[in-house]
Amino acid sequence: MEKLQVKDKSFAVSIPEAKILEQVRRVAAEITRDMEGKDPLFLPVLNGAFMFAADLLREVTIPCEISFIKLASYAGTHSTGAIREVIGLAKDITGRHVVIVEDIIDSGLTMAHMIETLEKHNPASISVCALLVKPDALKVEVPIHYRCMDIPNDFIVGYGLDYDGFGRNTRDIYTLCKE
Ligand code: 5GP
Ligand code: MG
Repeated sequence: MEKLQVKDKSFAVSIPEAKILEQVRRVAAEITRDMEGKDPLFLPVLNGAFMFAADLLREVTIPCEISFIKLASYAGTHSTGAIREVIGLAKDITGRHVVIVEDIIDSGLTMAHMIETLEKHNPASISVCALLVKPDALKVEVPIHYRCMDIPNDFIVGYGLDYDGFGRNTRDIYTLCKE
């Protein structure tokens, strides 16, 4: 099994590139079919979704727009602590069919907050497209219209996802080795 060292931690391949791309193509075909005639606006979430978005959107064959957004840590004190502000919403999303492209949904709190924020701008619809979902970690109900793969509740890196900023630049996805 191929190992990856990222800083002080050791990871092993858990999802090889071929399997990722197979599932990304499947989801791209579903979106292409569902969004025909709707001129969707894709909003990939930086940084984690950059590689997924690049592969996904090359397989989406209908007219569409792409605009990246980012989450910034919430500046004040907030009861939940984890809530982050959506920044970089450069496009007017009013009346648009929006597709959020996210790397991974863990507790679901980030996505729930993002949907709430985007809804205030009155889009025609909001769809969620996630590369990975950890079903056992979900704490809130989040609509996930498109998902490539479900994974166990383990920490992963690669294919855009990081550990402390490193490990994003791999073709495969790796899971943290349990010592
Ligand atoms: P949630 O709000 O759903 O708990 O968290 C989602 C965010 O947590 C993701 O966008 C991602 O940035 C981070 N995250 C959750 N699980 C993992 C993981 O296994 N690996 C990495 N690298 N990031 C994760
Ligand atoms: Mg993310």
